[in-house]
Amino acid sequence: MEFSLAILPGDGIGPDVTTEAVRVLEAVGRRFGHDFDLKQGSIGGNAIDKTGTALPEETLEISQAADAVLFGAVGGPKWDDLNAKVRPEDGILGLRRTMGLFANLRPVKVEPALANSSPIKKDRLEGVDMIVVRELTGGLYFAKPKKRWRTSRGQRAVDTLRYTEQEIDRIVRVGFELAMGRRKRLTSVDKANVLETGRLWREIATRVAKDYPDVEIEHVLVDNAAMQLIIRPAHFDVIVAENTFGDILTDEASVLSGSLGMLPSASLAGLPGGASGKRSRRKVNGLYEPIHGSAPDIAGQGIANPIGTILSLAMLLRYSLSLDDEAAAVEQAVQGVLAEGYRTRDIAGDGGDVIGTQQMGSVIAGRV
Ligand code: NAD
Repeated sequence: MEFSLAILPGDGIGPDVTTEAVRVLEAVGRRFGHDFDLKQGSIGGNAIDKTGTALPEETLEISQAADAVLFGAVGGPKWDDLNAKVRPEDGILGLRRTMGLFANLRPVKVEPALANSSPIKKDRLEGVDMIVVRELTGGLYFAKPKKRWRTSRGQRAVDTLRYTEQEIDRIVRVGFELAMGRRKRLTSVDKANVLETGRLWREIATRVAKDYPDVEIEHVLVDNAAMQLIIRPAHFDVIVAENTFGDILTDEASVLSGSLGMLPSASLAGLPGGASGKRSRRKVNGLYEPIHGSAPDIAGQGIANPIGTILSLAMLLRYSLSLDDEAAAVEQAVQGVLAEGYRTRDIAGDGGDVIGTQQMGSVIAGRV
């Protein structure tokens, strides 16, 4: 089959890690007989330097026209001026907004070979395999009024937490759809004891649950969810949460895996397929990126871990191109290479062969 992808490497280690993901993609193309038409675009700091904007029109065009977008990371000290009119992050935020990517998916799995890299006790990590679904375009980060002003009694500031029934319905459904293809347990996170939006969230989640009788739903208050993630992380299958809670919980969950360099993410405008958990072979554009930033402290040294980006590529194959076997081949290649003892520096805590970014990409591609 033929597919078109936009590749947006960005800044810092972004180009290093996306180059390795493309190497793995080429191996997938050879093994499974697919043609991938790749178009590269600039975004973030390097785009500001070239064009004065963090999201050039051409980048937006190739991203919207593609079947899916693979993104590295943006930012760095060169563009860190808080008063600057354009900032590297404007690129990625603009892309998410324009493409309507309301669902952010972050799987967190602890590779047995890496259990020693996590700060959490090893016995707690056994069987950890969850996916956190975060609402990405609504709530406290976007709703108006959002402002700061002076009064005779000092400054005041306000942010607004607003959700519509439709916004809650569509993100909770993404959670249920994912749960259908997994262990059929959905944890819906809210703060229904205090927040009106929390009560609406719980009401809608309970209503949507009727369409998914095979999935067991539990409602957990966000403060309790934060605690349970550390106490019994293996309990969770799919977690769904609004934007702010999801932001905090996804960072907390990422600690379980040991290194920022290991974790992938997907931002989607919905999941392909209907209410059965069986996905159709329809292409659904989405944006795939590792959860880490541009890591300026190690940029250009050839030591960044490309696995988070390579696993993001696996998510791209699965969710946007419906290539499940190909996605599994990439994930198995990563597991195999880790089991054989290959390590980049960030995950070398338990010994093993320390190799660079390019070598890690090559051994994973070789196993595909
Ligand atoms: P970071 O994720 O870039 O780095 C945090 C630490 O983790 C650093 O010590 C880094 O060396 C290490 N690290 C990150 N990825 C790694 C990898 N693949 N392999 C090995 N080590 C890795 O976060 P930061 O330092 O807070 O931010 C650096 C820049 O990235 C900032 O400009 C920030 O705004 C930007 N940022 C961008 C994104 C994005 O593009 N989506 C996300 C977060 C931060």
